[in-house]
Amino acid sequence: MKSGYKLSAGRDAITGIIVILAILMFVGTGSTVVTDAIAVLSGKAGGSDNMLVSAFLLNIALILFGWRRYKDLSKEVEERAIAEELAHSLAATDPLTGFLNRRTIGEKTADMISNAQRKQKSIAFLMLDLDNFKNVNDMHGHSAGDIVLKQVAERISKLVPPNSLLARLGGDEFACAFIFDPEQPEMVDRIADDLIDSIASPIVENGTQLVVTTSIGMSRYDFESEGVDVLMRRADIAMYSSKKQGRNRHCWFDANMEQELQTRSLLETGMRAGIPKGEFVPYYEQQVDLATGKLTGFEMLARWESPSQGLISPEVFIPIAEETGMIGDLSISIMRQAFDDAKNWDSSLTISVNISPIQLLDPWLAQKIVKLLVETGFPPNRLEIEITESSLFENLSLAQSIVGSLKNQGIKIALDDFGTGYSSLAHLRALPFDRIKIDRSFVTSILQNPESKAIVKAITGLGESLDMPITAEGIEDKDTETELRNLGCAKGQGWHYGRPLSVVQTRKTLLERNLLPSADTEEDVPSTADEIPAQKTA
Ligand code: C2E
Ligand code: MG
Ligand code: MG
Repeated sequence: MKSGYKLSAGRDAITGIIVILAILMFVGTGSTVVTDAIAVLSGKAGGSDNMLVSAFLLNIALILFGWRRYKDLSKEVEERAIAEELAHSLAATDPLTGFLNRRTIGEKTADMISNAQRKQKSIAFLMLDLDNFKNVNDMHGHSAGDIVLKQVAERISKLVPPNSLLARLGGDEFACAFIFDPEQPEMVDRIADDLIDSIASPIVENGTQLVVTTSIGMSRYDFESEGVDVLMRRADIAMYSSKKQGRNRHCWFDANMEQELQTRSLLETGMRAGIPKGEFVPYYEQQVDLATGKLTGFEMLARWESPSQGLISPEVFIPIAEETGMIGDLSISIMRQAFDDAKNWDSSLTISVNISPIQLLDPWLAQKIVKLLVETGFPPNRLEIEITESSLFENLSLAQSIVGSLKNQGIKIALDDFGTGYSSLAHLRALPFDRIKIDRSFVTSILQNPESKAIVKAITGLGESLDMPITAEGIEDKDTETELRNLGCAKGQGWHYGRPLSVVQTRKTLLERNLLPSADTEEDVPSTADEIPAQKTA
């Protein structure tokens, strides 16, 4: 390419020199030769004049050649300039929406900052992320997704102040920056409110309604602020916080969010290192038959035995595992340990395992669990899987097919934390549940709060008519246990029966109750009273 350029530039230089020489010759000899040329052309002259005339005509031909080459060259330069401009604009903008791209919005925001500083104004940077865009793509295809992105871009353009910078940062993430009066930040809130309302209104395409909402994070640049990168990162952190608070909303960045993010990122790093080291282990919480007081099994609850921070609650690390995609491997690793632990316990004892909604989006989940059962030799009929109602929202038909496969193997399914969230009858009927678990928030307040009692009563009635036995979780004392038994709950669990225990402590309990086969009792079990380490909660 470069050598082509050099060649053509060399040719152009030679052409230029020839043309200049030709013009000089023309000027020098022109006046005398023109009359001779006319004579030669009309056949009135001959001899040595002919040569001069030929040179003169050649001169004219060269000038014409030069002129032609000059025209070609200017056309080429013009075309090259257009192509360069197009390449520049493609490199700076998103082809789908015509918005700036990530790199360019950064550069242009930096320019906007200097401009705003001169005028003693502030800059608002808004980061928008669509909440359920993946659903549109999955359910209606990528062309519908493109239509949504274009429509969202159009709606944003209409609502932001003139001269705002608008960008699509990739995927379903947009950004905009504009100057505002630092005394009137509420103007920015108003714009964010309008954006949220406008984006949430359905987009109708070929008779189908496509609905997306957006979460917005906002940061501001005032006179003393740091650079554009910090501004963008803060908006991003605030956007993440909007998502966490329930999506379809906006919030301003504040310093606590950054602190929270740092803690979270430390936890995430610790988790990535801790999973392969076996720091995540199963603990076991007793489940009891309320009519007979007999131990029927355990709910397996994950714990992180962190060497640096002690025992960490699943309420801290399960959400991080879900967000980072670690949940699948983490869950399988803890289940494997639990099946190994429990396979030799008394055959009447069941193990209940919590499954995250994210795991129910994995079409291979049932196969993975069955494989674990085969590998560890744990009988499927002693396993119960606990899922929450929120698992049924994302992809109900996939959840139905996974649950169908698990039930075919003889695994039982329980609906966990019922009474919180939607508590819908439709959800209860959507899957063939074997059991309903009432959320502990109703159970712990049943003696003080008549409403809680009414809810527990309604759920036990529902369970009876649907032939689904009820487990009450969070029983902390004898009176609550009696009340629940009277209301018709079949099983119970909670601190009244004991805190969740490590495998060593659980084996000790089983040994005392003669529920550990002799082969297993030979292994070490602690002789001292159980000390439950303090737990860190969110
Ligand atoms: P969950 O499934 O509702 O589990 C019951 C929670 O209630 C457990 O908290 C248990 O320790 C606590 N609890 C039990 N009895 C009482 C009581 O009498 N009073 C009070 N105040 N609390 C009681 P934990 O172990 O912190 O687990 C919290 C949640 O984390 C679980 O709620 C479950 O949703 C989730 N989780 C635990 N292990 C796993 C896991 O392996 N995978 C997944 N996906 N989630 C898990
Ligand atoms: Mg549970
Ligand atoms: Mg529960």
